[in-house]
Amino acid sequence: MFSHGNCKICSMRSKGSYGGVQRRSTPKWGSTLPERRGGLKRTYIQPRSDKRAGQEKEYAKIKPKNKECFFCGVAFKKAEHREKHHLTGRRGEKLVDKKYIYNVHGKCHMQYHNDSIHTWEWKDGFLLRLREVDRTLYEKELNKLEK
Ligand SMILES: [Zn+2]
Ligand SMILES: [Zn+2]
Repeated sequence: MFSHGNCKICSMRSKGSYGGVQRRSTPKWGSTLPERRGGLKRTYIQPRSDKRAGQEKEYAKIKPKNKECFFCGVAFKKAEHREKHHLTGRRGEKLVDKKYIYNVHGKCHMQYHNDSIHTWEWKDGFLLRLREVDRTLYEKELNKLEK
C-alpha cells in the first residue's frame, strides 16, 4: 500500500470524508476495453489530464525537509524509513505544494488514517504543528475532537 512511501491513504480519503473533488470513475490504467469492431482489444490510456500526471510525477520527487515526524515530533533515526503525508489529502493544486507535505513515521501515519483522534498519543504536539501550517486544517482536526 505504501509503495514509494507516498501518501496513498490520503489520496483515497480525499474522495470521501475530506470533501475532496469528485473523481470521474475511469477504468484503471492499462486495463483493456473491449473493442466491438475488428475484434481487437484496445488499451485504455491516459484517464487523467497531462497536467495532473505531471503533478503526480512532481509529487513523487518531493522530499520533505522536516527531520522530525510531523505527527509524533520524534526525530528520525539515520536511514529510518519515512513516509510522506499530505496534510490536505492531495487535492488539486495543493498536491505539489511543499507547504503541506511532510515526512512521517509509517506507524504514526497508520494511526492518523486508521485510528480515532482520541487514541493519538502525539495529538497535542501534532495540533500545534498543524496550527503553524494552516489554521483551517487545524480547526478541522479540532472538530474531530468534539465527536
Ligand atoms: Zn511519528
Ligand atoms: Zn497520509
